[in-house]
Amino acid sequence: NHNSSDVIRKQFLDFFIKDNQHEFVKSSSVIPFCDKTLSFTNAGMNQFKNIFLGYQLPVYKKVANTQKCIRVGGKHNDLSIVGSDSYHHTFFEMLGNWSFGEYFKKEACEMAWKLLTDVYKIRAERLYVTYFNGNDENNLSPDLECRDIWLNIGVKKDRIIGFDMKDNFWEMGKCGPCGPCTEIHIDHLPSYETKNRGHDVNIGKSDLTEIWNIVFIQNHRRNDGEIENLSEKFIDTGMGLERLVAFLQGKSSNYDTDLFLPIFKKIEKITHCSPYTGSFSGNDFKRDTSYRILADHSRMIAICLADGMFPEQNQKLRRILRKCINISVKHFGHQNLLVETIPTVANILGDTFPELHQKLFNTLDILKYEEEYFQSLKENLSLSKGMKEIINHNPKLNDLDLLDYPGFLNAYQDFNRYKKSNKKEISAEMALKLHSTYGLDIDLIEKLAEIEHMTVDIDGYEDQMEKMKNILFERVDGEKVIKLNESILSTKNDLKYEYVYDNSKHMFCTKS
Ligand code: ATP
Ligand code: MG
Ligand code: MG
Ligand code: MG
Repeated sequence: NHNSSDVIRKQFLDFFIKDNQHEFVKSSSVIPFCDKTLSFTNAGMNQFKNIFLGYQLPVYKKVANTQKCIRVGGKHNDLSIVGSDSYHHTFFEMLGNWSFGEYFKKEACEMAWKLLTDVYKIRAERLYVTYFNGNDENNLSPDLECRDIWLNIGVKKDRIIGFDMKDNFWEMGKCGPCGPCTEIHIDHLPSYETKNRGHDVNIGKSDLTEIWNIVFIQNHRRNDGEIENLSEKFIDTGMGLERLVAFLQGKSSNYDTDLFLPIFKKIEKITHCSPYTGSFSGNDFKRDTSYRILADHSRMIAICLADGMFPEQNQKLRRILRKCINISVKHFGHQNLLVETIPTVANILGDTFPELHQKLFNTLDILKYEEEYFQSLKENLSLSKGMKEIINHNPKLNDLDLLDYPGFLNAYQDFNRYKKSNKKEISAEMALKLHSTYGLDIDLIEKLAEIEHMTVDIDGYEDQMEKMKNILFERVDGEKVIKLNESILSTKNDLKYEYVYDNSKHMFCTKS
């Protein structure tokens, strides 16, 4: 099939690797390596962060890959919209190309344009590009260089749009490497233009979808907030494979592509439920959303388990897994559909990520264990007197998926004592306590606050979290790093760790 997702992925990699002399670098694991600031790998650049920070020299100056990305927390949290829109997933593949001090803006834009219009044959009329239009507060001038590059490439003036810091200035964190970016957006409309255009046919679908973000890392934000120029310049790009595939397969929803359809087919076959119809509104919306969430989360769970993440050690993963079990039972009358869908995911993505096949047996084992453990928790919890009491007292608590939070009862008692002193706001300290002592995550704390007619000091909470991360981060960073093929020493919790660069894996590993 000439436009299968496998072919589309390969065309991207061939274009950069064969036609433009980039080096292929394997996707890094979705478990971030040596980075306390992230719980999941969320972008292609993660594994190259130390190069941008100047701590590591690049092995190759030009690289490309497809990176397994997960966005279920932190700065990029798409978890709550997954299922109700057509183009955000918890797990997705980010196709990327990088230049570490070699080519810059002009070449990056030209290659991107060539790939989209020549290789994928996307008509220019379907594309829009954006550029950074400046910001006085930070003393940053508009990126007219970028705008002119697009004009020279032949993009029509009214297709080049300037945006501010929020959309077109990329930053890794509060300080560090950063820079203006240009995004390529794609217009879906003609492919599903119907009489209903502008009415409910578009609910949950976006006519204009961002597909590719090209970042020009040319600045550095200092600790004091000032932005200065970098002596070295980097290109960092990311394009969502699922969005690209949807467009090239003539679909307005990522879920209608060969990356997802076999998962729906499998669920239909096993459960004999009415089939997935791709609705984003109306009567079928609820059922189709369950299909979408289950298919999306199946991919995410398959990838996490194949990379060796344990639900036991990652509460977010465990919660998502339990949500799938609940959906299986409630909406499809099956005790755990993940056991059925995950082998299908391995079939779809296993050629690209062979670990899906290699770890399948193990994965199914973990799924079985999690299912049984969850079941026993439910039984114990529904018997727990304390829980019954607080829920009788406040039935709204039933809206929270409390089974996922074994520490909830203790947390709630503590919270009640706090509330008794007539508090209207959950302070940053209290939120932090509920989080770190009892394992409630911030989404749940916010929902709890809503039920109790209180607010949460989110900014304070995030500041505190950031500070905590930085302490760890500085320890790792504080060490003198690095030359290639040599080791990094870092001090963590007063223990010395030694990391050695493993050329075959293109990453640092603890020395054995
Ligand atoms: P959006 O504005 O649509 O949320 P983003 O600006 O957060 O996207 P980037 O961080 O720029 O995304 O990531 C680069 C590319 O990765 C995007 O242009 C998009 O194609 C893809 N992408 C980002 N988030 C998701 C997601 N949750 N699911 C699928 N693809 C995604
Ligand atoms: Mg986003
Ligand atoms: Mg965006
Ligand atoms: Mg973007």
